[in-house]
Formats: sequence, structure tokens, C-alpha cells
Amino acid sequence: MAISRILIANRGEIALRIHRAAHEMGIETVAVHSTADADAMHVRLADHAVCIGPPAASESYLDTASIISAAEISGADAIHPGYGFLSENAQFADIVEAHDIAWIGPKPEHIRTMGDKVEAKKTAGALGLPLVPGSDGAVEDFTEMKKIAAEIGYPVLAKAAAGGGGRGMKVVPSEDKLEEYVNQAKSEAKAAFGDDRMYLEKYLGNPRHIEFQVFGDGKGNAIHLGERDCSLQRRHQKVLEEAPSPVITPEERDRMGKICADAMADMGYRGAGTIEFLWEDGEFYFIEMNTRLQVEHPVTEMITGVDLVREQIRIADGKALSVKQDELVFSGHAIECRINAEDPWTFAPSPGKVTAYHAAGGMHVRVDSGLYAGYSIPPYYDSMIGKLIVYGRTREGCIMRLRRALAEMVIEGVKTSIPLHEELLQQPDVLSGDYSIKWLEEYLAEREAD
Ligand code: ADP
Repeated sequence: MAISRILIANRGEIALRIHRAAHEMGIETVAVHSTADADAMHVRLADHAVCIGPPAASESYLDTASIISAAEISGADAIHPGYGFLSENAQFADIVEAHDIAWIGPKPEHIRTMGDKVEAKKTAGALGLPLVPGSDGAVEDFTEMKKIAAEIGYPVLAKAAAGGGGRGMKVVPSEDKLEEYVNQAKSEAKAAFGDDRMYLEKYLGNPRHIEFQVFGDGKGNAIHLGERDCSLQRRHQKVLEEAPSPVITPEERDRMGKICADAMADMGYRGAGTIEFLWEDGEFYFIEMNTRLQVEHPVTEMITGVDLVREQIRIADGKALSVKQDELVFSGHAIECRINAEDPWTFAPSPGKVTAYHAAGGMHVRVDSGLYAGYSIPPYYDSMIGKLIVYGRTREGCIMRLRRALAEMVIEGVKTSIPLHEELLQQPDVLSGDYSIKWLEEYLAEREAD
């Protein structure tokens, strides 16, 4: 049952990315879109387009019934969810499969397990991934909590079991503050998730964010495609990502990559996944697993030559992984800059009409974006409007090319984060790769104070 028509349940640059991979495989595409996205590039390029509702995502991109109807009407035999929206919704994956439509994603049971923080940590530990020292699941009473915190050593991080987006999280500096701070986190968690179960973790003071790309065929075979360093973040949002990480040696990559790939093989994991770690003083600590394609996947594609979306489609079609671990070669360096329609310094969103557009080009330069002159960026969705991804044989060469490419980009009519990237690529710490997940926020705070 070869896949012949894929419905793309997403929008923006990732919808275009999926369309491109599909067409290169001779597969037709169906775009579903809200009324606000009728003029989007991927809608124009797709073989079929179905309007599924008004601008609000809850009434369009998150409306499972409309999306399934669109698949049936258009004769789609597969659904790719992209990232965000329904991509990590196990119930939606179940519904898709119940309709005999191929789900281009992991098995629903694995989405479910990894979507629950406590369950995910338990599973990761059982599969041999290194964990952040902490409590064994949620802890109820304060006497027990104090005992565990003393064992871990202060400061500790109190986290909501149902957490997400960094909410319901509080650093506890010492025992006398434990009850007060945990209670604060609990009420935040209760309000945000309707669930105030809390667990404790060792608080890492200055870690990097390093994640491994993995792929499984769902039949017990799995590979890893190396790591990405995504430490440059603001409010837990990644800003610039690179592969490989400036701090990981080839030996360390092989060692940790194998641990990740073996874990996926044991699980019988299917499709693309990302195992996220905090890294401090040479040690990895599992934080979560994303059971989907990531925004930053192109940096991995640049250094491995593997098309990850094509691989996802192949696996959903029951085919084998197209590369074996020992055939994979990591070569050179790649960096991605996320381009957002926002003020580069206040981060206020800046939707509106793009009056002029010119994408950077040249050797080893990739622009993933649906922008064009005359396009109106709708105000209803995420502010990311594209990604500039650049490859170089060395990190230094990659940075030189990236500066050149950023200078070539023309996006007029709206504000963008391009000036932020240009400034970042002049900072000595960024040039030397010496930054943690705290670096960007500290840099921005100092800049504002000046
Ligand atoms: P969420 O699902 O709410 O985003 P995560 O567990 O992914 O929660 O954590 C969000 C962010 O909080 C991480 O990316 C990291 O920046 C920080 N963080 C999480 N756990 C720790 C820890 N044990 N020590 C220090 N920082 C942490």
C-alpha cells in the first residue's frame, strides 16, 4: 500500500518542507488551511487544497474532525502533522490510524508515554538513558520531599508532573524555602494544567541543551544522526541551532548516540524522534523526548545528507531505514537561524504585509520559508516565518557564510529577528561556542541595561 497522496496537517515553512519532500518522491500533496492562510505558498503549490475553518487554530489546524473529513474528501492515504499543532496528540494519531490512513509519525502509545513527564522519565531510565538525579515520580508530602531534596543536594528544581512550556517550575535554594516555593509551583500548575503533582530534580546551574536525532523503523531497528546544540534560547524558545555541538567529541557522539539508538531499538520506536538532554561538565541528563520532527532538523540534514522527511514518509510506508548506522558520515558544520516576524530587541510580534522579499542564496545556503513579496503574515500564529540554514566545512567557515547570507536577506514591510542574528554572530562567546542556556537571556539583559 504505497503512499500516494499526503495530507499536510500544518502551515508555514514546515508545510512547504513536507510538500517538497513528497513531490521529490512522486507523491501528491493535500494542503489544509484556515481562511487566513488561503494565500500561503504551500497552499499554492499543493496538488489539492481544502479550507478547514476560520483563523483560530482551535477551529482549523487543531480541529481533528475537519482534518479527517478533508483527508477522506481528497482521497489522502497519509497524514503528516509537521511540528506543533496535532503532532504530539496521541488521540489524533489513533483516529488517523483507525481511518486506515497512514500516520507519518511514531506509534500512538509512544507519543502518549513521552508526553507524560513522569512516565517519560521512568521509561527513559529503564531504557538506559542518563537522568537528572531526582525523585522517583511525584512526591506528595513535605517530610518526604525534604528527605529527597537533602539527598539530591540544594538547589533543587520543583517541577509539575503535568508541566509544559516551563510553567509550574521553581528553583528551591534551600530547605527553609522548600514548602513555600513548592506551594507556589503547585498553584501555578493547578491553574495551568489542573494537576498539581510535583516532583524534584537536581538543579543544573549552567547547562547546555544538546539533543540527539533518532530514527526507528518500528520493527526494532534504530539509528542516531548525531546531536544538535540548541543552547541559544530565550524563554525556552530556541533562537539559533547548530550541528555538531562545539563541545561534543566524535567519541562522545558515538557513545551517547549509541545509547539513544539502542533505547529506540528496544522500544520498537517508529519514525523521527529527538531525545533532549541538558549537558553540564561532560555529563548528559535526559529532560524529554519529542516524538516528532523538530524545527531545527535541517542542521542534521546538512551534516549527514539524509532527508529526514523523506525518511519519515518511507517508514510510514513500511519501508526500511535508507541508511545504516555505519554508513552515516558526519561532515562539516551547519547552523540555523530562526527568522521571526518580530522586533529583534523587544520581541513584540510584527505581522503584516511583506513589501519586498529576496532570499539569500549561493553555495550551501538553504532558506526554508513560504514568504514572497506581497504576502501578508497573519497575526494568528507563531511568529516564525522562515529559517536560514547554512553549511560550511568548518564551524568558522559556516559562520563566515552565515554572516554573508544574513546580509543578503531582504524582508521589508515587517520587522524581523535578522538584526539579532547578525549581532549574535559578532559575539566572542558565540564565535568560540562558549555558551550555555543562560547566555542569551543574560546577554539581552545586559544589552538593555546599557
Ligand atoms: P517544559 O516541558 O515545561 O518545557 P522541561 O523539562 O523541558 O519543561 O524544561 C524546560 C527547561 O527548563 C529546560 O529546557 C531547561 O532550560 C530548564 N530545566 C529543566 N530541568 C532543569 C534542571 N534539572 N536544571 C536546570 N534547568 C532545567
